[in-house]
Amino acid sequence: MSTRTIPMTDDLYAYYLSSSLRESEVLVRLREATRAHPEAGMQISPEQGQFMRFMVRLTGTVRAIEIGTYTGYSTLSVALALPDNGRIVACERREEFTQIGQPFWREAGMDGKIDLRIGKAAETLDAMIASGEQDSYDFAFIDGDKKNYGVYYEQCLTLVRAGGLIAIDNALWSGRLVDESLNDPASRAIRTLNVKIRDDSRVDMSLLPIGDGLMLVRKLPENSDFLEK
Ligand code: CA
Repeated sequence: MSTRTIPMTDDLYAYYLSSSLRESEVLVRLREATRAHPEAGMQISPEQGQFMRFMVRLTGTVRAIEIGTYTGYSTLSVALALPDNGRIVACERREEFTQIGQPFWREAGMDGKIDLRIGKAAETLDAMIASGEQDSYDFAFIDGDKKNYGVYYEQCLTLVRAGGLIAIDNALWSGRLVDESLNDPASRAIRTLNVKIRDDSRVDMSLLPIGDGLMLVRKLPENSDFLEK
């Protein structure tokens, strides 16, 4: 029993994975192919991938957005949970990252569900809004460059339908946010956005301490003016 979230020790984490992780063989191999990459820490954890698949199915998501594809583990996780007519728009600035994941996407038969957009995500999302795609997505995963998190949040809030879900990664930023002297642009952006979302009456929210902290935001219908009482 506990009145707070319990600390995740190494032993407990090993138990957590061994007793609950479901990860298909192609995801295991993509994770392993990414492990050698110099920026492998940017990949989500396998239990978070499982949780995202769970959420995609729970919300009945057909149209998804991802900001920050990296080598495409999270992209493939979401694609695997989408129905046959589902699509994920995957935004990534660095094409060389996505080239690591693309053979695995094909092997899993998921490449047809993944609409990869190479470029600056803010510009890609602006173009989607300009072409009338607002209120038409069911799920968005924000995991791009942290200093633009506030921009991505507003763009996703426009693109996602009322009742749709936005998941924002690294909301706990490796625990660094407790250091109030930390003032780099990335830390500042995450800290600012966390508080903004807490106080945002346009959304329902819950910050989940999975992986590096996953902020879950459900877009409310317009003028619902909802805050937890
Ligand atoms: Ca991340």
